[in-house]
Amino acid sequence: GIAVLGSANMDLVVTVDRAPGRGETVTGRTFTTVPGGKGANQALAAARAGAAVRFLGAVGDDDFGRTVSTILRADGIDVSGLVTSAEPTGTAHITVDGDGDNSIVVVPGANGSLAALTPEHRAGIEAADLLLLQLELPLPLVAEAAAHARAAGVRTVLTPAPAVPLPSGLLGDVDVLVPNEHEAALLAHTGDPVAAGHRLAAECGDVVVTLGSQGAVHIRGGDERRVPAFAVPAVDTTAAGDTFVGVLAASLAEQLPWEAAMRRAGAAAALSVQRFGASSSMPARGEIDAFLAT
Ligand code: ADP
Repeated sequence: GIAVLGSANMDLVVTVDRAPGRGETVTGRTFTTVPGGKGANQALAAARAGAAVRFLGAVGDDDFGRTVSTILRADGIDVSGLVTSAEPTGTAHITVDGDGDNSIVVVPGANGSLAALTPEHRAGIEAADLLLLQLELPLPLVAEAAAHARAAGVRTVLTPAPAVPLPSGLLGDVDVLVPNEHEAALLAHTGDPVAAGHRLAAECGDVVVTLGSQGAVHIRGGDERRVPAFAVPAVDTTAAGDTFVGVLAASLAEQLPWEAAMRRAGAAAALSVQRFGASSSMPARGEIDAFLAT
């Protein structure tokens, strides 16, 4: 199975014709609440693709935390490693204007309160075949988890987002690194995403650089293999990357070869960009199969 150690938020989304300026009040059109956070998104994408998923993280002792937990469970995710923190559940306050542009305030809350792995987290990592990590939890915790997974013989897949410099030594404990173009450029100090991928691959086993509508490139050793994106009409690319990584991990956990795993991940992401929302846009296993069969 797959363990995801990452962020779980409640996203509070308002749509407006025009975002307010400083000191200004505007009237919004709609308000929705939807679970988010890269950790929860990747867990949902992997679970929908058919993987057995355990989510490791923290929420507050509040209604948002209970709702997030219930929604993860509704997709079959084991939440026994979702601990309750004294801090409130993390929230993302998102304003979407009439042009589709976002402004976002993230309050990490419980996600930021995790100082060290709990016994539940350690057990969850040890029981997994694959550990998924992102950078929305404190960096020392991410590094501790990767080291624990390495010692336990568990493969680690890291999405280095949001883009920040990594603690030294972290990449050496990562088996698969999945940056987008911006993250690859920041980590490797070069604007060419493929050259960046090669540099990063020298430090960890496999690197997959995602290139938006240009697809993705898998790099290992000196070899690179490009996988084009599926040509689809995109309406909302929110969480395309999280869908890609969740389904890539689910496919690798099923022992699919790299080429097939990359194709499935690309298909799932292509399905997700044709629908609005993050977790609400992630496809089920049957939809991925049907899309690949056409
Ligand atoms: P992120 O959302 O993390 O920035 P990308 O934008 O690189 O990630 O997208 C991740 C993957 O989603 C891509 O590798 C591709 O497979 C798929 N994807 C993204 N945008 C599109 C698009 N417009 N059409 C088809 N597939 C897309």
